[in-house]
Amino acid sequence: MQNRAIAAMFNDIADMLEIKGESPFRITAYRRAARALEGLTEDVAAIAARGELEEIPGIGKGTAEKIQEFLRTGTSKYYEELRASLPPGITTLMSVPEVGPRTAMLLYERLGIKTIDELEQACKAGKVRKLPRMGERTEENILKGIALLRRTKERLPIGQVLPHAQELVAALRGVKEVNQVSVAGSLRRMKESIGDIDILVTSANPEPVMEVFTTFGRVKQVLAKGSTRSSVVLDVGIQADVRVVEPESFGAALQYFTGSKDHNVKLREKAVKKGLKINEYGVFHVQDDRRIAGRTEEEVYAAVGLPWIPPEIREDQGEIELAERAGLPKLIELGDMHGDLQMHTRWSDGSDSVEAMAKAAKALGYEYLAITDHSQSLKFVGGVTVDELREHARAAKKASDKVGIAVLMGTECDILPDGRLDYPDDALRDLDVVVCSVHSRLRMPRQEMTARIVKAMENRHTDILGHPTGRLLGQREAYEIDLEQLIDAALRTGTALEINASPQRLDLNDVQAKTAKERGAQLVISTDAHNRYQLKYMEFGIGIARRAWIEATNVLNTLPLVQLQAWLHER
Ligand SMILES: [Zn+2]
Ligand SMILES: [Zn+2]
Repeated sequence: MQNRAIAAMFNDIADMLEIKGESPFRITAYRRAARALEGLTEDVAAIAARGELEEIPGIGKGTAEKIQEFLRTGTSKYYEELRASLPPGITTLMSVPEVGPRTAMLLYERLGIKTIDELEQACKAGKVRKLPRMGERTEENILKGIALLRRTKERLPIGQVLPHAQELVAALRGVKEVNQVSVAGSLRRMKESIGDIDILVTSANPEPVMEVFTTFGRVKQVLAKGSTRSSVVLDVGIQADVRVVEPESFGAALQYFTGSKDHNVKLREKAVKKGLKINEYGVFHVQDDRRIAGRTEEEVYAAVGLPWIPPEIREDQGEIELAERAGLPKLIELGDMHGDLQMHTRWSDGSDSVEAMAKAAKALGYEYLAITDHSQSLKFVGGVTVDELREHARAAKKASDKVGIAVLMGTECDILPDGRLDYPDDALRDLDVVVCSVHSRLRMPRQEMTARIVKAMENRHTDILGHPTGRLLGQREAYEIDLEQLIDAALRTGTALEINASPQRLDLNDVQAKTAKERGAQLVISTDAHNRYQLKYMEFGIGIARRAWIEATNVLNTLPLVQLQAWLHER
């Protein structure tokens, strides 16, 4: 579909006419045409083929001709001439949210600025404020605009995106004109980093939907507001798009916009073999264009002879082939979790009491939780000393009785540089759950680091290896380790490997967790919560686990308490 590309060209034309000081009527005509194209749910090429371009509200004779020309040649002569008549760089400057065509021109003519880097330097040097109609405020705003533009181009960690997307979806769900609403894209697939937020809606009356969307509290900038599609930038620096689709196309659009691209390519190939075509509007017979599916995703998959495939595994990693043979795994769900096996309290660097954590865990419907404060050598986070352990255990027991949930007494015990654990054996023996993790001397050579961790796993008191690779998403690379050797050690010693669900970690990641699962390692999913609200991070861990094709049976803390305790005792 070229609708988007042609709309972008019309917007550029309007910008360029504005710079040249052309008639406002012509400028408005191009903007209106761009909006009309953005709002179309049908491929503009199909409309052109029927000779009905000028029947689209907002498209006139001149713009219709340019659409025809674009469909034939991929551009328009008029557009190319306009571009050539302007100094290069003007359109680049105009991509900064705070810079309009006239400002761009002024910056270019007076200061010779052609790139965003040059613009940033000029602002920082206080040169821009000296231009007519400009001031310190303008400079600040331009710098903010540049920062926003750069952030918007990058992907953000899912932890920064999902909560806002959920709020936005809830706001849209609250609009009475909305029937169905869902996120799509990489967010629905629970990827660890997200490029933008895609939301799909069905509604007989889109106007109030667009109003709520564009005035949502976290909107920093409205990029486009149309009758069937709007785009905004949220204050965290990510773009969000909402599209209103027809109810009979909702499933097809959801499937299409969820991706991944590779998955969809393979699905379309399958459809072609059956004489069908799949697009964002539905599944159609190639011969007579008859629609056979589109209302739900289930319908779309069924039309090509497949069961519905969960979004998290739509990566063309063999899921389509397995679905053909009805061999898809039954992926783990949030509701399968019976407890959380890593969290911190005020006994070390957490900010809540044991009791508060216990209450919050109970409210989540859990049967048990393990309190795993840091061990003694981590003094800077108030690690628990051997002497304090007994008192700590009493507090855990008290909270357990008071709240009515099993509180397992545990530790997140440091793995010392030589691979020994940070507590003596007789202290570890008294604990219900021992999670071991590396927090210091992170830059060891690969073999040394691997041997260090393997040694810790060989300690008979170790139950779980915490955040096995130590990466901090977007901040710190994993330490140098040989994951294969860690998995070998996990199998040999019966140590479980953690999927740390904290959105700053997500460690193991999806690919590593899939390897561990395929090799038969025992896994746990824990939040590493440092306050009671963070117990909700489990959602991110489940997302990673589902992307790793993990089933409930692969994960220890899906077990009921009695069976978990049996596992812990056997060791
Ligand atoms: Zn901590
Ligand atoms: Zn830790």
